[in-house]
Amino acid sequence: MITADFHVHSNFSSDGKASMEDMINQGIKLGLKTLCFTDHMDYDYPNIYKYSFELAPEDYIEKLEIMKEKYKSQIEILTGIELGLQPHVTDRMNELINKYKFDFIIGSVHVVDQVDPYYPQYWENKSEEEGIARCFKAIKEGCESFQGFHVCGHIDYIVRYAPSSKVKYNEYSYTYYQDVLDEILKTLVDHGKGIEVNTSGYKYGLGHPHPKTEILRRYKELGGEILTIGSDAHLPEHLCYDFDRVTQLLKDIGYQYYTIFKEGKPIMKKL
Ligand SMILES: [Zn+2]
Ligand SMILES: [Zn+2]
Repeated sequence: MITADFHVHSNFSSDGKASMEDMINQGIKLGLKTLCFTDHMDYDYPNIYKYSFELAPEDYIEKLEIMKEKYKSQIEILTGIELGLQPHVTDRMNELINKYKFDFIIGSVHVVDQVDPYYPQYWENKSEEEGIARCFKAIKEGCESFQGFHVCGHIDYIVRYAPSSKVKYNEYSYTYYQDVLDEILKTLVDHGKGIEVNTSGYKYGLGHPHPKTEILRRYKELGGEILTIGSDAHLPEHLCYDFDRVTQLLKDIGYQYYTIFKEGKPIMKKL
């Protein structure tokens, strides 16, 4: 049974809709043992979208310390962050993680060629396959240029923003993108990094977590063992989304353990 959610947003993220306390109270209700907040820190997020995904680290950590203390008899709260990988912000990310102590760091790509693939603009002037492949290449570049994260976030989430994603997600084929996906997975395994199993894919009705089954299987084949489980919840009702379902999927693939991180150190937990 999975008793830790390792991808959770609060209103420290500009797309977060709930306070830390709302999320924590829901976690307690669900019987979670550990909740790791992973609010966004995307350096150089394009300002055309009029959002900033940069948080104030001091305020964030201070608030987390208060939460940890207040709820320590009921739930363990950990300090994580979701860093937006872009090769040109590597120095800033290194500076951040050297200055502040994070239990857990997700490295995610949210910006490709200065555009957020969430917006239709990304898909103009390229085929769906080109758009997906370009994002995978950006993840590969992100994973090669920065070593400070523990797991690579939602590897194939790009597919859900492709114009026909909901229809096509089940058909989108790992083998079509195998070369670049294998390069990502091999880089992660070589560097001792994990991947996250992000259950928001279920929430979006895609029938799979991110990444989908074939990629989870391939990571295992290549010797990967580190999987964190996260709902990517931005609202309390999405905390631990479909964790029972993902547990079964991972067991069917042959995984016996998932991983949590404390003070940057992996701890294996039985599924
Ligand atoms: Zn993300
Ligand atoms: Zn997230």
